[in-house]
Amino acid sequence: MFQKTLRKLTVLNSIVFLLIFIVFGGMLYGYIARQLFDDIDESMEEKVEAFRLVNGRPRLGAAQTPLFDSRILIFLLDIEGNVINPYPFPIEGISPEILTSLADGGGEWQTKKIQDHAYRLRTFPYSYQDNILVKEAKEYRIKELLGVSIVDFEVTMLHRFLLVIVTGQIIGMTAIILAGYFLARRALIPIQAAWEKQYQFVADASHELRTPLTVIKSNAELLLRYPKHTIELETIRIRNVIRETIRMSKLVSTLLTLARADADEIEIQAGPVILNEVIQNVVEQFEPLVQMQGIELKVECSEVISLVADKERLQQLFVILMDNAIKYTSEFGCISISCRKQSSQVLIKVIDTGIGIEPKDLPYVFNRFFRADKVRTREKGGVGLGLAIAQWIVEKHNGKIWIKSESGIGTEVYVSLPIEKL
Ligand code: ADP
Repeated sequence: MFQKTLRKLTVLNSIVFLLIFIVFGGMLYGYIARQLFDDIDESMEEKVEAFRLVNGRPRLGAAQTPLFDSRILIFLLDIEGNVINPYPFPIEGISPEILTSLADGGGEWQTKKIQDHAYRLRTFPYSYQDNILVKEAKEYRIKELLGVSIVDFEVTMLHRFLLVIVTGQIIGMTAIILAGYFLARRALIPIQAAWEKQYQFVADASHELRTPLTVIKSNAELLLRYPKHTIELETIRIRNVIRETIRMSKLVSTLLTLARADADEIEIQAGPVILNEVIQNVVEQFEPLVQMQGIELKVECSEVISLVADKERLQQLFVILMDNAIKYTSEFGCISISCRKQSSQVLIKVIDTGIGIEPKDLPYVFNRFFRADKVRTREKGGVGLGLAIAQWIVEKHNGKIWIKSESGIGTEVYVSLPIEKL
């Protein structure tokens, strides 16, 4: 899939650059051609103008005066289309046959290649009364002037320049195709990683949903197998179904939170919050469970800390951290929560003396669906999404979360949050 996108991107980029190159090259060529011919065209116009002034009535030999540019020659065209050389000598490189082919130029600037030479030419109207020229006892009625210049040097220069442009474009295009391929490949790396992450997320979510569904299905089938059994007799199966349903609905709502968080749909409802109150609420919520498990719980937040945050999300964050601490701490263990101000930040620690996390697992605990011990954590009701959500909440508050842990000794979760602005 990504190979196809890569190819498409490279081709698209190359086409866009090729078009830019062609337009730019064409403009450059046109500009240079104009610059090369502009001087000749201007001189020719000046010379024609001077010819008109001096030769109100054409005479043989009159075209010799004034001579601004020896490269520009003026010829006469009569009403029958004959070209007459007004100079008293034949012009080298412009034979009568060539002159005849040049004569059909029209009133536009043209560059023509005839035999061995390139000619720049244009006809100009010439309308004086009685424009009769007598040459070799023949009368010509003059209608137009034909300006001609041999432009072999300019045309050769233009050809060379065109060659340079085309070669440059071929080399440039090859470089662009290679660079385009390389850049497209680099640009696709994060997209590919995000796609794979998303794919993995969907696969994990489906897998997690399949387990409770299988348990529900098999328990329901067993219930059907003994239709005469009373509810009392089947309590275990019914309890299984209820437990897995609760688990599934919790999982679905967590997945929804993460999906909405990914789509940036969840906004933080920031407001003034007393951190001690939030912690106290969560602690009260977990107190019965802590007592039941014989765990000692200490809260060390002597200083009243108020900060700007989303109260609901902060509560959710501490529920996740407390839940983990309790889940992974055995009987007679200890959990302590402390908080203290550090300049513009508040540092919260949740420390337990539980099973701890192995060093090899520590880098992955914030990954979605990561569980160090899958069987054991599932028994405890974990699906591996708690810390991913905790991280999202902390980051949304522009804070940081990190964990230190030693297997068999305990875990320390640190959360640092800005006190004032989000
Ligand atoms: P879960 O719902 O499985 O607890 P979490 O994302 O909250 O998922 O945690 C990911 C994994 O990190 C857990 O499965 C567990 O292996 C490990 N973990 C998290 N908190 C603790 C803790 N306080 N003590 C030991 N292990 C922990």
